[in-house]
Amino acid sequence: MSGRVALTFDDGPDPVWTPRVMDALADAGARATFFVVAPLAGRYPGLLRRMVGEGHEVAFHCNRHARHDRMTAAEIQADAREGLEILDTLGHRVHDWRAPWGVVTGDTARVAEGLGLRLVGWTADSEDWRGGPVDEMVGGLAQVMEAGAVVLMHDAVGPGALRDGCGRTVDLVAPLVSMARSRDLTPVPLGGMPGRLPVRNPGNVAGV
Ligand SMILES: [Zn+2]
Repeated sequence: MSGRVALTFDDGPDPVWTPRVMDALADAGARATFFVVAPLAGRYPGLLRRMVGEGHEVAFHCNRHARHDRMTAAEIQADAREGLEILDTLGHRVHDWRAPWGVVTGDTARVAEGLGLRLVGWTADSEDWRGGPVDEMVGGLAQVMEAGAVVLMHDAVGPGALRDGCGRTVDLVAPLVSMARSRDLTPVPLGGMPGRLPVRNPGNVAGV
């Protein structure tokens, strides 16, 4: 049975790792979605232009990388507004929002609705932030790679990560795309995903 899956990358853009992730996606002929940290986007606007130019989607991660369950509704609202304003100034209208660590509260949902953003979590966690071997990440993802899967990866070293670079995420792209294709699954940006998507971290607890 054919289907679609989404490859997603959080915490960038990063001047070293984001271009290498995009190179790997280009080599694999796959398109993805990048949930960006707005101030980093403001610092590296060329990386967002390249994302769009290569058919990827830019989506919103955060302005400040903080847990929503430790923020007031007003703080969540202010963070999203400030972040969206930065992206808007750069010429990017975003539709999807992944909260930091995928931690979503009732306030997050209300702010998202007010701003016209769709909250998107994931179904398949690469746990790439641990810095483990590529074959273990592929093996773990193989258990949950099915139509509608949303795969979480990181194109930057975010808060709490146990690794000092994203080389293994770069190396994960090719085998992950071939594993998906061997199951007749096509990687598409989130805008091309049919049906309902998860809105949060499956456990709604902080990993990284
Ligand atoms: Zn993050």
